[in-house]
Amino acid sequence: MDLFEYQGKQFFARYGIPVSPGDVATTVDEAVAVAERIADYPVVVKAQVQVGGRGKAGGIKLADDADSVREHATNILGMDIKGHTVERIWIEHASDIAEEYYASFTLDRSAKQHLGMLSAQGGVEIEAVAESDPDAIAKIWIDPVDGPTEDVAREWVAAAKLNPDATEGAVDILLKLYAAYVEGDADLVEINPLILTPEGKVHALDAKVTLDANAGFRHDLSEYEATQERDVREQAAHEKGLQYVGLDGSVGVIANGAGLAMSTVDIINQVGGQPANFLDIGGGADADVMAGALEVITGDPAVKSIFINIFGGITKGDEVANGIAIALDRVDIGVPIVIRLDGTNAAEGREILAEKAASVISKPTMLEAAEAAVELAR
Ligand code: GDP
Ligand code: MN
Repeated sequence: MDLFEYQGKQFFARYGIPVSPGDVATTVDEAVAVAERIADYPVVVKAQVQVGGRGKAGGIKLADDADSVREHATNILGMDIKGHTVERIWIEHASDIAEEYYASFTLDRSAKQHLGMLSAQGGVEIEAVAESDPDAIAKIWIDPVDGPTEDVAREWVAAAKLNPDATEGAVDILLKLYAAYVEGDADLVEINPLILTPEGKVHALDAKVTLDANAGFRHDLSEYEATQERDVREQAAHEKGLQYVGLDGSVGVIANGAGLAMSTVDIINQVGGQPANFLDIGGGADADVMAGALEVITGDPAVKSIFINIFGGITKGDEVANGIAIALDRVDIGVPIVIRLDGTNAAEGREILAEKAASVISKPTMLEAAEAAVELAR
């Protein structure tokens, strides 16, 4: 679950990480009121969208007075930044910057450890630094049982060659950032830039936080849930409780099980097509689930054909077929459907389809079904 910068900063603040005083606004008047409340110009007006490079896109502006806040807020609210419409802005006291650093923690699954990255080259995309000057990123791997000690953090800061004036502030923030990462059940915490001010203070100027929604039972995520950015298709699927991820292609995918759904996406690509989505209807797919899945998929105007890929284990072929037949009665599908139905009661399932859902094209293998669906999408 991705947080907006302002949520990330509020999250950081709870762990004692220094951020600039500020607040979020959804209207121009609110923005001016926030700036007046901060009462410490200049302030910075920042577009809240979950995409980087906001500055370059004109979504981050300094303002010296209320009129200038009004002007920038007017321009930034409603702005489109890489396909994201700005609905909220964050206004905070502007900082003086001497140096910009980068700091993050994330999970390195293959190492089974947490990975910390720190660089004296912040303020730019870390991928660009990794490309142009990989040695400029100091990495440490942290055993999740032990966590980092202060000494480890100090050595890490030295390895990253931060300005010595930043050492104490950086060590303090990195330890707090690690605490936020672990205690907050985050998958990623990133500060870019982490700044050193001319007065020698270190603090977070940006916040990128991804929380693990599976740990939601330990936290109150309702506020973040309410502001999740989803495309219309994902929103519709989410409301139906479907495991759906929107993609850019033209072949709609319905499969039972995440692994099979992934393979289905792969095989569509393999035969030269493009999947419109990932959708796992799980085990025991009944008519309601199937109808819901078909509704979501046909709601996507880019979909030109649908590939239903079912391997019945616990799920029985006849039940799936009945589900499809009922779903077809309920939902108006304007595109051809190809099905590969295999496993438990597959033969019975195919008979039911032939009888009650004759428009559905049945193929014996996944490959043949993928080829047919891709051909039909063309
Ligand atoms: P991003 O580009 O979307 O990641 O947005 P950031 O929040 O990282 O801001 C981008 C850049 O804007 C920073 O690297 C800074 O150079 C600049 N910036 C952001 N906030 C301030 C501020 O308070 N004062 C000054 N002088 N520059 C800022
Ligand atoms: Mn940034």
